[in-house]
Amino acid sequence: MSVAGKTAVITGSNSGIGLGIAKEMAKAGVNVVLNSFTDSEEDHALAEEIGRKHGVTARYIQADMSKADQCRALIEKAGTCDILVNNAGIQHVAPIDEFPVEKWDAIVAINLSSAFHTTAAALPVMRKARWGRVVNIASAHGLTASPYKSAYVAAKHGIVGMTKVVALETAQEPITANAICPGYVLTPLVEAQIPDTMKKYDMDRDEVIKKVMLERQPSKEFATVEQLGGTALFLCSDAAAQITGTTISVDGGWTAL
Ligand code: NAD
Repeated sequence: MSVAGKTAVITGSNSGIGLGIAKEMAKAGVNVVLNSFTDSEEDHALAEEIGRKHGVTARYIQADMSKADQCRALIEKAGTCDILVNNAGIQHVAPIDEFPVEKWDAIVAINLSSAFHTTAAALPVMRKARWGRVVNIASAHGLTASPYKSAYVAAKHGIVGMTKVVALETAQEPITANAICPGYVLTPLVEAQIPDTMKKYDMDRDEVIKKVMLERQPSKEFATVEQLGGTALFLCSDAAAQITGTTISVDGGWTAL
């Protein structure tokens, strides 16, 4: 069965990985719901452009993934949700004894609790449609840790754990739940850090990428948003119907170290 004609709700998808996944899904004929906490003309124009380019229905629905009721309302407003991609995420870096409480709360809310709320709201919709795919965008930090990223690592390990529970609760239904664990991905957010890091270390772009950013990524190459979109699509394919409750690393060998 092809995924064309299904509907995917992708949280945090007006930039970076979420947008990349939305574009790859639309290219495969999937109708997409884009989301973020903003509600600008550009957000809606982005969805229109994707819809026009790929001949699918593409909508933008504003919802703040730090708020439980808005997470659930996103699924309700989408109306249908065959594929749920929990992607919204933020980061903050600080030693644990200096970690701001409000940053901890925001990271746990956006990177972990939002997926609990959207999944709880989406599963009844998937059950009614007798098909569903939950794809959680975790991280290499869902499987391993780095100093100064306590909230992020805790939330990402948490979402990997929750993925397993969702898989077990849906194991005898035509629904799967998996987590993708990307290493470093060249998103606009990461790209924007390159010039400053070049200055800080007096290095050229290539050195910054290989020696600083990709220090822990053995391939010494970023993963791309297209590769993540392709991985998400694979998890939605018939070939992946028995893949559930697991993680797929897209990290250039990071977690093999
Ligand atoms: P990004 O900043 O480009 O994208 C994050 C998205 O989340 C944006 O669309 C943003 O608007 C949205 N968002 C933030 N707060 C939100 C909120 N309160 N409500 C709704 N949407 C909100 O970053 P990205 O690199 O594309 O990250 C996407 C996901 O991939 C995150 O979960 C991140 O942890 C994960 N990830 C990224 C990398 C990487 O190297 N870029 C690696 C591993 C995992």
